Amino acid sequence: MIPGSFSYHRPATVADAVKLLADLGDEARPLAGGHSLVPMMKLRLATPAHLVDLHGVAGLKGIKRDGNKVTIGAMTTQHELLASDEIAKSLPILHETALLIADPQVRYRGTIGGNVANGDPGNDMPALMMALGATYQLHGPNGAREVAAGEFYQGAYFTALEPGEILTLVTVPVPAAGHGYAYEKLKRKVGDYATAAAAVVVTMAGGKVAACSIGLTNLHETPLLAADAAKAVIGTSLDDASLKKAAAAAQAIMSPASDARGPVEYRKHVGGIMVMRALSRAAAKAG
Ligand SMILES: Cc1cc2nc3c(=O)[nH]c(=O)nc-3n(C[C@H](O)[C@H](O)[C@H](O)COP(=O)(O)OP(=O)(O)OC[C@H]3O[C@@H](n4cnc5c(N)ncnc54)[C@H](O)[C@@H]3O)c2cc1C
Repeated sequence: MIPGSFSYHRPATVADAVKLLADLGDEARPLAGGHSLVPMMKLRLATPAHLVDLHGVAGLKGIKRDGNKVTIGAMTTQHELLASDEIAKSLPILHETALLIADPQVRYRGTIGGNVANGDPGNDMPALMMALGATYQLHGPNGAREVAAGEFYQGAYFTALEPGEILTLVTVPVPAAGHGYAYEKLKRKVGDYATAAAAVVVTMAGGKVAACSIGLTNLHETPLLAADAAKAVIGTSLDDASLKKAAAAAQAIMSPASDARGPVEYRKHVGGIMVMRALSRAAAKAG
């Protein structure tokens, strides 16, 4: 339970953080809230020789509405997301999801940037970001670039981040007025990672689904966008048959690990149920 030794660095600017990471190479890791990285270090599953703490870096915090988008600095904590009136108003599903992450102690320290950059299939924010069509701004030795959340996740703990790059900003398009939303998460106990979870954003017109997106958490080695499942409900009133069709389409792309949260078949089964529950609850909320 004691991490290996490491050097601690505290840069003041994005440029300094990037330079440190680029100079120190593979042996260095950015440190945000530390609530995924430090436990991994204590278990010696991660043994970085250098930690580059992002807490002193100016400009990495804050939530801003900018036209039809909300921008969130990478070092904004989950607690700050929950306390934000802008998030509650513009992105209520983000509020709902943040509330289902761990417990208040973790949420006081854990950041949105760390949650989406970590690459752990159990993290809740990545599938939500995919369902919302978010983009991530990355800064590295070759400058800045934008990557869609849908293209960021390549495998468990393997993302589009290049050596020396840090994620600085998350940009989320605000869903249409009157949209419905739900994040359904099955967990073994309060504070646990998802056994299976589904994020749904839906727009209804005349009692029928006009637009829909569905993200899935911890049902594959990466978060998933269940595009066929979303397509299955477009134009329907979300009757039982179309809910079942959507669940089956989502289950067709799930390949969860068999672990302490249950065997593969069980996790796919409850994954389908999370999709159906999230669709029904989201539709009921739509204006
Ligand atoms: C008891 C417990 C329960 C938890 N339950 C949940 C849960 O239910 N759902 C959930 O989603 N999470 C859960 N977590 C994880 C928590 O949300 C973490 O805070 C989050 O996964 C990582 O965010 P962080 O700011 O702590 O990042 P850190 O732990 O500091 O970093 C995580 C990884 O991301 C990298 N990184 C961090 N920031 C950046 C950046 N800006 N740019 C590039 N790389 C970066 C780090 O180098 C590291 O590899 C739990 C944690 C604990 C301890």
